[in-house]
Amino acid sequence: MFKYIRDELLKIEPRVNVLVDVLVEELYGRRNSVNKETLWGCFGDEILKNIRVNLGKTQQCLDCGERIQKESRNKKFCNDCSVKREKQRQREKWHKNKHKYR
Ligand SMILES: [Zn+2]
Repeated sequence: MFKYIRDELLKIEPRVNVLVDVLVEELYGRRNSVNKETLWGCFGDEILKNIRVNLGKTQQCLDCGERIQKESRNKKFCNDCSVKREKQRQREKWHKNKHKYR
């Protein structure tokens, strides 16, 4: 049964990667559209592989653990946390130097 659905889907879109992308979107992007069990039955391996690849392109923010895109080696925090840390850094700098301003 799963094999049949899988073959039918592959007739529509022979590139498994593209197919899995579309299916994952169907699965998690919309409600009540595709039977999730059927999908996992047909494409479980590919979906897992796909998810792993996507996770490989991201890393976790060191502060809050949110997934962020790996843009550069230096990027260790999500946008919210980098703004917070920058404010904190400015405040500490000001505290360190405030005697100079008096
Ligand atoms: Zn964060």
